[in-house]
Amino acid sequence: MHDLDLNAVLSAVSAASRVAKRAAAERDDLADLLKDDRSPVTVADLAVQVAVTAAMRAADIPYSDRLVGEEGTDSLDAGGPKMLGQIIRLAGEALAESGFGDDAPTSEAAIRELLDAGGLDPEKENRDVFWSLDPIDGTKGFLRGQQFALALGLVEGDEPVLGLLGCPHLPLGTVADYGSADASGSVYLGIVGEGAFAGDAQARTLESLTPIKVSATPPEGRVRVCLSYEKAHGDQDRTSAALEATGVATTPIRIDSQCKYAMVASGRADLYLRLAREGYREKSWDHAAGCAVVRAAGGLVESATGEPLRIKGRWVDAPGGIVVRTNAVNVPAS
Ligand code: AMP
Ligand code: MG
Repeated sequence: MHDLDLNAVLSAVSAASRVAKRAAAERDDLADLLKDDRSPVTVADLAVQVAVTAAMRAADIPYSDRLVGEEGTDSLDAGGPKMLGQIIRLAGEALAESGFGDDAPTSEAAIRELLDAGGLDPEKENRDVFWSLDPIDGTKGFLRGQQFALALGLVEGDEPVLGLLGCPHLPLGTVADYGSADASGSVYLGIVGEGAFAGDAQARTLESLTPIKVSATPPEGRVRVCLSYEKAHGDQDRTSAALEATGVATTPIRIDSQCKYAMVASGRADLYLRLAREGYREKSWDHAAGCAVVRAAGGLVESATGEPLRIKGRWVDAPGGIVVRTNAVNVPAS
């Protein structure tokens, strides 16, 4: 990991964030569909995954031949020629603006190859080090014009070691309502064991970012807790019980996507609770990047039983759910 060119990774993420932001502005005109699990996928999800993979390869970033990506060619098949045309245009325009124009895919075959590359199964393919990518985490927030994130995490074994969160609608400072879209956006970078940083969404160099760390104590004794905006993404009864068990007053902040990890890492929230409903299995791309950013900023990412969260290839190992917290907040194991 130490020979990784972080400025190159930041450049790839900022180019792909540009795709996401542009797609957000045009979202009413973009093709979308429901996947087999009934979750929505839009042209933006596919265009961002294509753009970030193309930019990573153009910048010679290691392990970008195959990666763990949320999207695949199945959505492309369902979306047809309209979706394909929009992906080529959106990814192409933003890559060109970011200096990766020569590497923009222009054919269906090139788009398919880039999406297929996201089908890595690290366990089956014996890859100990891999990138885990969610091109648009929080697609439902994206469709509402609210928060979403581009999440890119590097995993070694079962540990996230590096994470980037591109949050095109999340401001850097403190605001009354984090749900509504901010014009400038932000990016977060965490290097576990070394530190975490944040900056403007278009930042392309480590020098242009500022160090961040988790909050030392909840302000005025109230624990600021991030929760999914989508209530169906958590078990509400267990969540209420866990909040009560902290024994302190809490202020909920409902935001879509791994923006919740960014909030804890940057000291604007003290806790992120994600106690999934019975039977739901968390995915690697929904947590690898966020986990690295929070740990790098001095926070803890654990299962509901108090074990450190681990990545298992395309999946997450976190029995009972996920608790993201600062040292100042205690959530009794459940
Ligand atoms: P969030 O915006 O934090 O609620 O998380 C968005 C992510 O939740 C999506 O990327 C999905 O992968 C994931 N998701 C979808 N359905 C569920 C569910 N029933 N429980 C938990 N997470 C889910
Ligand atoms: Mg996601």
